[in-house]
Amino acid sequence: MTKAGGLVYIGMGSNLDHPVAQVKQARREVAALDGVREEEFSSLYRSFPMGPPDQPAYINAVMAVDTERPPHDLLTALQNIELAHGRLRTGERWGPRTLDLDLLLYGRCCMRSETLTLPHYGLPDRPFVLYPLAEIAPLDLLIPGRGTLGELLRRCPRDGLECLEVDDD
Ligand code: ATP
Ligand code: MG
Ligand code: MG
Repeated sequence: MTKAGGLVYIGMGSNLDHPVAQVKQARREVAALDGVREEEFSSLYRSFPMGPPDQPAYINAVMAVDTERPPHDLLTALQNIELAHGRLRTGERWGPRTLDLDLLLYGRCCMRSETLTLPHYGLPDRPFVLYPLAEIAPLDLLIPGRGTLGELLRRCPRDGLECLEVDDD
C-alpha cells in the first residue's frame, strides 16, 4: 500500500512472561517482516485487564507500518509471530497471553471476512488502543465508519491507562 492509501496500524498487548520484553521483541519482528516498514511506534502503556480480572496488568503499544502485503497475508504473518511467542489460545475470551497482535486499521480499508474485520471492532472504545494510537497518528485520522480518532478519544475515559517512562530502546 502506498502512503497515500494510508498506513497500517497494529495494536500490541502482553501480560505474561516479561510483557515489556515481549512487546519490544514483537516490534523488531514486525519491522523485519518482508514487505513491511516501521513508520512509528508509540510509548508503552500499562492497562488493567479487560477480561477476567484475576490476571496481570497488560503492556500495550501501537505500531504504524507501511506495507505492500495484503490484509489477510499480513494478519497471518502477525499470527505466526504470536505463535512464536508461545501464544496459546485456550478458549477463554480475553484471557492472559504472551502476545496479542491485532490489525487495527489498514488504511481506509473496510472489510469483514470470517477471519478479519477492519477496522478492528474494538478500536472505538478501547483506551489502550486509542491513546497510544493518538500519540503516533493525527487526531483527524478517519476511522472508517466511526468518525475521527479525536472524536473517539474524547468519548473514551482512560480507565487507569498509564503511559510508562520513556526509554531510548
Ligand atoms: P479481541 O479481538 O477482542 O481483541 P483477541 O485479540 O484476544 O480479542 P484473538 O484470539 O487474538 O482475539 O483473535 C481471535 C480472532 O480474531 C482471530 O482468529 C482473527 O482471525 C480474528 N480477527 C478478526 N479481525 C481481526 C483483526 N482486525 N485483527 C486481528 N485478529 C482479527
Ligand atoms: Mg486483541
Ligand atoms: Mg488478537
